[in-house]
Amino acid sequence: MSECIFCKILNKEIHSEIVYEDELVCAFKDINPTAPVHILVVPKPHIENLNAVQQQHEELIGHVFVVAKELAKKFGIDEKGYRIVVNCGADGGQTIDHLHFHLLGGRKFSWPAG
Ligand code: IMP
Repeated sequence: MSECIFCKILNKEIHSEIVYEDELVCAFKDINPTAPVHILVVPKPHIENLNAVQQQHEELIGHVFVVAKELAKKFGIDEKGYRIVVNCGADGGQTIDHLHFHLLGGRKFSWPAG
């Protein structure tokens, strides 16, 4: 059985507030939101991070973005704007080793990233 917390969420072994799910991805609210809208869009296969993405995942990753922009619309952040973030590795700020895409909105973000 997987020790990955996101795999456990996907398998419904751990509760989360799921806002969208299909055969390829699951999206749920971040437990520690850093914006009024903070949703994690998570591919279902256990892919450690962006470094582990292969050519075979191209359709899956494209699907993530289609789902993310639909969620942006559903949560009312599409018109003012939003940010999608993928943290990769220690310097990138990744804390959960299962590829995920942060959908953030509902406030203005600064750039460059801190
Ligand atoms: P990372 O730092 O890019 O790896 O993002 C991991 C995210 O997962 C963080 O924003 C955490 O707040 C979030 N997180 C950790 N555990 C849970 C959980 O059990 N449910 C929902 N979000 C979680």
